[in-house]
Amino acid sequence: MTALERLADLAGGMMLDTARVTAVTRLPGEFVRVELAADAFGKATWVPGAKLQFRPRRGTLSLRTYTPVRWDAGRGVTELLGFTHGDGPAARWLRQVADGDACEVFGPRKSIDLRDPAGPVVFVGDESSVALACALRTVTADVAHVFEARDPAGLSEVLAGLGLDAQVAEKTADRAEVLRLARSAAGPATLVVTGDAATVHAVRRDSRTWPRVPREVQGKAYWAAGRTGLD
Ligand SMILES: Cc1cc2nc3c(=O)[nH]c(=O)nc-3n(C[C@H](O)[C@H](O)[C@H](O)COP(=O)(O)OP(=O)(O)OC[C@H]3O[C@@H](n4cnc5c(N)ncnc54)[C@H](O)[C@@H]3O)c2cc1C
Repeated sequence: MTALERLADLAGGMMLDTARVTAVTRLPGEFVRVELAADAFGKATWVPGAKLQFRPRRGTLSLRTYTPVRWDAGRGVTELLGFTHGDGPAARWLRQVADGDACEVFGPRKSIDLRDPAGPVVFVGDESSVALACALRTVTADVAHVFEARDPAGLSEVLAGLGLDAQVAEKTADRAEVLRLARSAAGPATLVVTGDAATVHAVRRDSRTWPRVPREVQGKAYWAAGRTGLD
C-alpha cells in the first residue's frame, strides 16, 4: 500500500461511517438489493430522495452515490437498489457483495427532496432511478412512471416484481419515445426526472412546452456518458 493510499484510508476512517451488509438479493436485469445496518443510521434524518454514498475501494477517497429505498431509523437499517452497469468500482462491489461484509458510507445527504410533491407526479428515469421510484412510493401513490432502458422488457420485469406500474421506452439517441410518453402522462403538477444527464436535460427542456407545464420540477443527473461517479 502506498503512502497516498494509507492517507486516503486515514481520512476515510475519520469521514466515513462503517455499516454492515445484512442482506443481499440479486434481481433480474443486473439489479442488486443491499440492506445495510449501522448505529449512525439510527441518528440520521432521512428525506425520501436523499443520497447515501459509499466507498467501493479502500486506498482511495472516491465515493459512489446511491438512493436509499427506505429508512428504518429505529433499527438503524436502510436499503439500496443498485444497477450494475459496466465495470466501474461500484458495479464491481455490488456484484461481489455478500451478507456480513463491511461497507463505508457517507450520508444520508440532501439530493432530490420528495417530501411534499405538489399534486400528481410524473416520474421519468432509467435503471439508476428505480430506487428513487421506490422511495417516492413511501410518500405518494399518485405517480405516472416513465422509464427509458436499453432492455425495456428486462426493466419492465424488474419494475413489475417491485410492484411499480410503468411505461418503459427503449433508449434511443433522440429520446423521442421517452419524451412522448412523459408528455402524454396525465396532468402533472410535479415532474421528477433523474438518470442519464442527457435525458434529464432533454425532458426538462421539453416539459416547458407540455400542454400542462409542471408547477414544480426536480431533476438530477445520476450519471453521464464518459464521466464517473457523479454526486
Ligand atoms: C444522487 C444520485 C443517486 C443515485 N442513486 C442510484 C441508485 O439508487 N441506484 C443506481 O443504480 N444508481 C444510482 N446512481 C447512479 C450511480 O451513482 C452511477 O451509475 C455510478 O456512476 C455507478 O458507479 P460505478 O463505479 O459503477 O461506475 P463509474 O465508475 O462511475 O462509471 C463507469 C462508466 O459507466 C458509465 N455509467 C455509470 N452509470 C451508468 C448507468 N446507470 N448506465 C449506463 N452507463 C453508466 C459511466 O458514464 C462511465 O463511463 C445515483 C447517482 C446520483 C448522483
